[in-house]
Amino acid sequence: GQSDVRYDVHIAPADGGLVLTFEDTSEAKDLASFRRDFVANVSHELRTPLASVVGFIETLRGAARHDEKARDRFLDIMERESQRMSNLVDDLLSLSRVEESERKRPTTKVDIAEIAARALADLGPLIEAAEATVTLEDHGKGTMVLADESQLRQVIGNLVENALRYGAKRGNITVGVYGPAYETRLRQNGLRLSVRDDGEGIAPHHLPRLAERFYRVDSHRSREVGGTGLGLAIVKHIIHRHRGHLLIESVQGEGSTFTVILPVFEQNPPLS
Ligand code: ADP
Repeated sequence: GQSDVRYDVHIAPADGGLVLTFEDTSEAKDLASFRRDFVANVSHELRTPLASVVGFIETLRGAARHDEKARDRFLDIMERESQRMSNLVDDLLSLSRVEESERKRPTTKVDIAEIAARALADLGPLIEAAEATVTLEDHGKGTMVLADESQLRQVIGNLVENALRYGAKRGNITVGVYGPAYETRLRQNGLRLSVRDDGEGIAPHHLPRLAERFYRVDSHRSREVGGTGLGLAIVKHIIHRHRGHLLIESVQGEGSTFTVILPVFEQNPPLS
């Protein structure tokens, strides 16, 4: 079943951004109310598109019965709303599977730059549709991490999808992999994977809550571009399972950078 894990976000200011560390606080928090809120949110997210589909079925049976143009338009809307519900259910299942997996540490040695390349290949059609330019920079020198490959692919996928959604039109997105020895001004230990966009950025007061389930800066915009409000929550859980951190930096008017910091293989206990 679904586990009752929730996290506290610990915030450390970093040059123009925030380091978010997720700590399991299941014992300390009121789980019952967390659950109630979650169920209420899910119900609300499903009810809106469902009401729209039901409404259009009625219209198609009645007034629009013999109006071919109206029928096509309504069917398009119904398709879009159904797709939205389907995306939400997919993300809910993902979230539940990720939570379930958190009891076990990942055990496969992987090169994150290779995973990033595969994730970007999967996103090819989306990138093309957005007419975005995505550049992969590998400064990782083959540094290995212990990871769940498909989960890391999902992390990279969700971050790049967000960069496509909320980044600039025909924007430039850079996916960078930096080994522990690679000097950046962040001076973080571990392997860093960052996704940088040149979109409008995020106001600082949103950053601490950004990875909460269903938290959105602009709900209308998120729904318009097909967001479920769960992408970063999934990312947060996967990073937590990998004992990593998420760093979010954003400058309004310039863009945002999401950085995943993972412990490198040498710091992990050897495989048995
Ligand atoms: P959604 O499905 O709404 O995209 P996420 O959990 O992925 O849900 O993201 C939560 C919110 O964070 C988004 O609705 C958006 O407001 C904001 N956001 C995420 N990524 C970016 C980005 N790269 N630039 C600006 N805003 C972003």
